Amino acid sequence: MTSRGVVVIGASAAGVAAVEGLRRLGYGDRIVLVGDEPHLPYDRPPLSKQLLSGEWDRDKVQLRTAAAYEELDVELRLGTAAGSLDVAGHRVGLADGTVLGYDHVVVATGVRARTLPGTEGIEGVHVLRTLDDALALTAELAARPRLVIVGGGFIGAEAAAVASGLGCAVVMVTDQRVPLADAVGADIGGMLTEAHRGHDVRMETEALVEAVVSDGSRATGVKLADGRILRADAVLIGIGARPNVEWLKGSGLAVGNGVLCDATLCAAPDRLGGGRCGFLA
Ligand SMILES: Cc1cc2nc3c(=O)[nH]c(=O)nc-3n(C[C@H](O)[C@H](O)[C@H](O)COP(=O)(O)OP(=O)(O)OC[C@H]3O[C@@H](n4cnc5c(N)ncnc54)[C@H](O)[C@@H]3O)c2cc1C
Repeated sequence: MTSRGVVVIGASAAGVAAVEGLRRLGYGDRIVLVGDEPHLPYDRPPLSKQLLSGEWDRDKVQLRTAAAYEELDVELRLGTAAGSLDVAGHRVGLADGTVLGYDHVVVATGVRARTLPGTEGIEGVHVLRTLDDALALTAELAARPRLVIVGGGFIGAEAAAVASGLGCAVVMVTDQRVPLADAVGADIGGMLTEAHRGHDVRMETEALVEAVVSDGSRATGVKLADGRILRADAVLIGIGARPNVEWLKGSGLAVGNGVLCDATLCAAPDRLGGGRCGFLA
């Protein structure tokens, strides 16, 4: 087993902020940052805006340069998922078989995009959570497809704005009467809906998508609960996110819709150090 220190699981905004915060506060021991994505940590907000529209290239979304991680003296373990956490034993098991001992662990594994059941493996069906998702959707939009967006939240709204700006015919389907009303209120939600319509986005409100229809390999549209079929060349599913907590099964941490922690983000007491065992994003 390798030496201890802090192991941060999840190499995204929260994980990087935790590393930087520790160094800023003078933590001088070993820090390992583990991420299952192969890329250097990147910023997600531009994925549905500047990256999707083609305004930025992929390098611009990086949170920090490779040199910055060297300066932080952080060991990067990218492209490797953490598969298990043993809180009592202070050990994290990685998918590549490595076991990392730690004095403190930070769980910052965030969320992943929800999908519609039955859409796995259908070409032309997208979600938008990761850099790879964004690059795949960007490539798809280059052909100016008819795009159906399932979900009327922020991701769907941003993608609709970008795709219609690029010249795609866009239909947004949401079960809400006023899209985004739950987040910004009915008045602002109504204004945003009109703005979309003003940009030729067709809004199908109070509508439920039952399934994605395909020709056997590629999406050809979506089927609504009222029986209508909306034809499409590509479908973006933006129906929220699920916490990445399955890998914590058996860890000893309390898990609900995320990891349960106290007001200081501590998830479990540190039996070895008398301080905190972990804090969470
Ligand atoms: C397209 C898009 C646009 C957005 N726009 C905005 C915006 O405009 N404004 C705003 O405030 N917020 C926005 N957000 C939300 C914002 O990006 C998130 O709040 C932020 O990414 C959360 O960071 P995080 O580090 O907590 O988790 P995440 O970014 O979810 O990162 C978690 C990381 O952990 C990794 N991971 C998961 N399980 C494991 C494991 N077992 N082992 C190792 N690694 C693992 C994941 O792959 C991921 O890299 C947007 C999100 C998206 C997807």
